[in-house]
Amino acid sequence: MSDGPTYGFDTLQIHAGARPDPATGARQTPIYQSTAYVFRDADHAAALFNLQEVGYIYSRLTNPTVAVLQERLATLEGGVGAVCCSSGHAAQIMALFPLMGPGKNVVASTRLYGGTVTQFSQTIKRFGWSAKFVDFDDLDALRDAIDDDTRAVFCESVANPGGYVTDVRAVADVADAAGLPLIVDNTSATPYLCQPISQGATLVVHSTTKYLTGNGTVTGGCIVDSGKFDWSASDKFPSLSAPEPAYHGLKFHETFGNLAFTFHGIAIGLRDLGMTMNPQAAHYTLMGIETLSLRMQRHVENAVKVATWLEDDPRVDYVTYAGLPSSPYSDRAKRCYPKGTGGLFTVALKGGYDACVKFVDSLEIFSHVANLGDTRSLVIHSASTTHRQLTPEQQQAAGAGPNVVRISIGIEDADDLIRDLDQALAKACG
Ligand SMILES: *Cc1c(COP(=O)(O)O)cnc(C)c1O
Repeated sequence: MSDGPTYGFDTLQIHAGARPDPATGARQTPIYQSTAYVFRDADHAAALFNLQEVGYIYSRLTNPTVAVLQERLATLEGGVGAVCCSSGHAAQIMALFPLMGPGKNVVASTRLYGGTVTQFSQTIKRFGWSAKFVDFDDLDALRDAIDDDTRAVFCESVANPGGYVTDVRAVADVADAAGLPLIVDNTSATPYLCQPISQGATLVVHSTTKYLTGNGTVTGGCIVDSGKFDWSASDKFPSLSAPEPAYHGLKFHETFGNLAFTFHGIAIGLRDLGMTMNPQAAHYTLMGIETLSLRMQRHVENAVKVATWLEDDPRVDYVTYAGLPSSPYSDRAKRCYPKGTGGLFTVALKGGYDACVKFVDSLEIFSHVANLGDTRSLVIHSASTTHRQLTPEQQQAAGAGPNVVRISIGIEDADDLIRDLDQALAKACG
């Protein structure tokens, strides 16, 4: 089928990027388990290596199964191209890599996945990059944090560990006025609930490990490019606008236009950083995406039921879920995320740290794991696990204090989930 805006999301999540295999007619996308691809002749090989022709050379750069996933994700997000890689964290480095350089900074929201806070506040320093963390509800603070060395603005749409939703449009307007790309991590929302590009984002990153794959089988990541940013409008992005010595002085933006970021991601990013997605992982993720909209609808429906029940329970201090009328983000959620705010939220127990630990140990259907976005319901005590590298202030800012449990609601029967939570609360809170 030809992919186009005439098809709805449910159709595109099954068909975009895929076509019957030209060699065999196989209807399902084959897993092209091949490292290399035969060149037609020496001229063909030379053209591929010069980036004069698009084709397959070596699976560190491109692979036909991964390419289908890239096209599907680009289509679902409304972008012009996508690059898949080995994990969500790889996607974040791959997204920043062409933009940053020694001495440059990214201005990031305080409300981020704990691993991202660690990656941005510690690890990227080894590259000479840095991050400034700001409350993105305070747009003046965001404007003030941007300086001459800022090269990107970064946030999550629906933030992990839950309860917070970003007004992507408002943040995009600030980034735009400063001439900077906005990168949105859309992992927890998925393109079914939020399409950041339609709200002004330049790049969308995903941990495909989560809802997109959907059943906890493989790690992966991707970067989707809107194709809308003018990399040549300033001299801030020489990787994309200036001559590239590794390709005989080719200028990516001039040569590839709105596909500059995508081509750079493959020709430089994957080639030299090597954070490649393997075709098996792409296969599992393609399978998952076929049912994305159906799963997200049920995740949202279940999360609303369970969060509402928990909020009314006397053993519970509070629940942070943007889908609850009591949430301070309820109005924003309805305006910016009309299909719901996902399956992720946090619950604070009156019994504090000890009750939380007992609670996660007592659950039967819910698994205590460092993952989210699975068909199965999952919990984690963030303060003692994913967020334990963070300072108490960072934990609080990320909504992961010692009395807080993060819940990823699966697509089981909501009544069963509520019964399980009830018995675990009884054990935890005496
Ligand atoms: C899990 C996650 C990541 C990191 O992804 P990996 O695939 O685990 O590397 C980044 N951002 C968010 C919001 C996540 O939930």
